[in-house]
Amino acid sequence: MFEYAPAPESVRPQIKEHYGIFIDGEFVDAESDFKSVNPATEEVLFTVAEAGEADVAKAVAAARRAYETVWGPMSGTERGKYLFRIARLLQERAREFAVAESLDNGKPIKETRDFDVPTAAQHFFYHAGWADKLAYAGHGGDPKPLGVVGQVIPWNFPLLMLAWKIAPALACGNTVVLKPAETTPLTALMFAELCQEADLPPGVVNILPGAGAAGAAVVGSAVDKVAFTGSTAVGRAIAKAVAGSKKKVTLELGGKAANIVFDDAPIDQAVEGIVNGIFFNQGHVCCAGSRLLVQESVADDVLERLKERVATLRVGDPLDKNTDIGAINSAEQLERITALTEAGRGEGADVWQPACDLPEQGFWFRPTVFTGVQQSMRIAQEEIFGPVLSVLTFRTPDEAIAKANNTPYGLSAGVWTEKGSKILWAAERLRAGVVWANTFNKFDAASPFGGLKESGYGREGGRQGLEAYLDV
Ligand code: NAD
Repeated sequence: MFEYAPAPESVRPQIKEHYGIFIDGEFVDAESDFKSVNPATEEVLFTVAEAGEADVAKAVAAARRAYETVWGPMSGTERGKYLFRIARLLQERAREFAVAESLDNGKPIKETRDFDVPTAAQHFFYHAGWADKLAYAGHGGDPKPLGVVGQVIPWNFPLLMLAWKIAPALACGNTVVLKPAETTPLTALMFAELCQEADLPPGVVNILPGAGAAGAAVVGSAVDKVAFTGSTAVGRAIAKAVAGSKKKVTLELGGKAANIVFDDAPIDQAVEGIVNGIFFNQGHVCCAGSRLLVQESVADDVLERLKERVATLRVGDPLDKNTDIGAINSAEQLERITALTEAGRGEGADVWQPACDLPEQGFWFRPTVFTGVQQSMRIAQEEIFGPVLSVLTFRTPDEAIAKANNTPYGLSAGVWTEKGSKILWAAERLRAGVVWANTFNKFDAASPFGGLKESGYGREGGRQGLEAYLDV
């Protein structure tokens, strides 16, 4: 492997020492604050006001006013202009947002720079285009918005999940109260500043940082719809909380995707896809290919090449442009990954990790590959949400499908084969919302994304994703 000299990112965003809650177009303070920490160094980046129930009620009232007086009555063409403006501002400040995301989340700059921020901007451009064409989206000739939408998002793609939520909601004529995750509020707060810069009418977007209690307050408030992305456990609690109310709900939850490599697959490409599938974003990906199902006849070859490739991954400083795997987002998440990895060892699976140095400060986990994994093991069933791959083998295509479908989740899957007929055969049988063929972790604003079974319901992106924000 070549040795690379460090290539640190030089741009530094203007991070304030303290941020307020963003309600009705302004930052305001709250009764208590919390800290946001850089997971790569454990240094405090800034403090931020924590939204309580009263703040949520104020934000919902502001969003209701904005919906009734400005945003609801506004023509789709005018709304589209605001969305285009937001998209362009995001592009103009792309590098600043990318660095901020890496600092607050721990993910490598090459991912925030080349994936998170451009994909978030694309989501606003795409939905800006829909704002005046909703009558042609296949949801009726005169589709109406729902009103005020409460949105709660996780920490793994903070800005991108915000874009997936806010862009379609605004395009359809709704106003928004959004709660970012407690460990990653920075880019949502910078987005609030960007809304001010775009002259978005006050109250159309409200950002309420806080923890689970703030999320529960948003869910329980007088919103017309709840859109949630996060764990299945919290998704279940939200479904219970809104049952019997008139609130519409969409849930984007966890996953335990199978990445299936058949014996006729192009092995080198498949190895790249396996690596991307599980080590992208430290494995903090709902649709991560966390279970590799490889056909027995090629398993030794695939594993040998996989280990060779994983040994070249660079783990370390998220702001170094060479870094492949950054920091784990929080001490809690590191604990969860460590506990599940220990469970895998305890249940008798074989563990392999490359020899790589980890920084002394911060939260880190080596890329990990488990072999000899059985279906019943926790590492084959539970979402680890970290850089840990569980490898299982199969002999026949039917066995691959049976094993792939044998989890409570149904978010995504991957199929590697040179035969188009086998791709179609497998895609028909896989119980997953998204199936990638000879690739993995590909996203596009025009393509709907979402789950089956315990991975949730509703779609985000594409023509289909608009339905979640329209009264249809
Ligand atoms: P989490 O469920 O713990 O938290 C998600 C959000 O919900 C956070 O903002 C949190 O503060 C809030 N929250 C916590 N308790 C709440 C409650 N009782 N009521 C309302 N809100 C509450 O999940 P996480 O650890 O932040 O994120 C990881 C999970 O998200 C993984 O399971 C992952 O698969 C899932 N995820 C899914 C998708 C998808 O599109 N399907 C995308 C990204 C992440």
